[in-house]
Amino acid sequence: MTDTMIETTTPTTTRDTVILGSGCSGLTAAIYAARSNLKPLVLEGHEPGGQLSITTLVENFPGWPEGIQGPELIENMKKQAVRFGAELKMAHLNSLDLTKRPFALTVGKEVIHTRTLIVASGASARWLNLPSEQALIGHGVSSCATCDGFFFSGKEISVIGGGDSAMEEALFLTRFASKVTLINRTENFRASKIMLERAVAHPKIEFRSSTIVEEVLGVEEKEVKGLRLKNTKSGMEDVLPVSAMFLGIGHIPNARAFQGLMDLDEDGYILTKNNVFPTLHGEVIPGVFACGDIQDRRYRQAITAAGTGCMAALEVEKYLEEHGR
Ligand code: NDP
Repeated sequence: MTDTMIETTTPTTTRDTVILGSGCSGLTAAIYAARSNLKPLVLEGHEPGGQLSITTLVENFPGWPEGIQGPELIENMKKQAVRFGAELKMAHLNSLDLTKRPFALTVGKEVIHTRTLIVASGASARWLNLPSEQALIGHGVSSCATCDGFFFSGKEISVIGGGDSAMEEALFLTRFASKVTLINRTENFRASKIMLERAVAHPKIEFRSSTIVEEVLGVEEKEVKGLRLKNTKSGMEDVLPVSAMFLGIGHIPNARAFQGLMDLDEDGYILTKNNVFPTLHGEVIPGVFACGDIQDRRYRQAITAAGTGCMAALEVEKYLEEHGR
């Protein structure tokens, strides 16, 4: 963006930075920005706390040798951010104007002006959206094999999906499970040949194609007891006794509000240079930063989200210094 394109407004108060999203990346950015005395405003968004707030035990976040519950980890991060002066607001963005300086964010009836913006709106796991599945999230239904696979050592489990994520999850889960049944809704697999071949060749993995999940059993017991399956070709139903169902049917980046304002890849993730610099028509957008799963479709871990959250906040500080805060 050139300076001639920038229109200025005369808002009453202008924030140094606003952070969109309150998951691991947004809250880490908030801690760093708050400790730099930038008094960040965090708009918590549609899913306050992000994906960690719907997991159970997190055992791979460094510093917690016994593990920590996802919601507790998020709560701690919030307290830490607030302690240093971050302001958290239960609200989400309605619209965003990046053509003016300062930027203008419409949140409900309010217009918020800010010199810099950190986009940390994350990605949401895609679910089957069955009531029984939703009721058992965190009790045997999971969208993260790396996070929850360990809890099913020696158990028979299932993975849903036919893409690379599902193959990767199934292969990873063979480390723990006695058997993994991979359930794909069609006969066609989106997975790359190499991943599919690896899964097919694995002695612990069984395939059920043209099969859909009709119900996750175990809602009353509060733990997954099995899946009621239907073969879409024969119409036959049966019950597969498993202790867990892992979803590997993709993620949906929460980037709809940024369409046209930033470059997105074909699946809607924000494209960035050096991890945290979003672009528009290939050019970095001064004062705008992105972190966490909204710009990371590869690693998607709490610790990597925290890492880029930290980077984004440090870049905000540097940008404000360079632009005479
Ligand atoms: P994909 O979009 O590739 O695959 C999604 C899978 O889930 C498809 O089999 C799809 O079935 C199925 N699916 C979607 N919705 C439903 C539903 N409601 N019910 C049942 N099944 C459903 O997503 P991935 O997350 O697997 O991969 C995303 C990208 O990330 C890809 O480019 C992939 O290559 C890459 N990736 C690479 C990895 C690697 O190289 N190690 C690891 C993981 C991901 P259908 O085909 O019928 O639509």
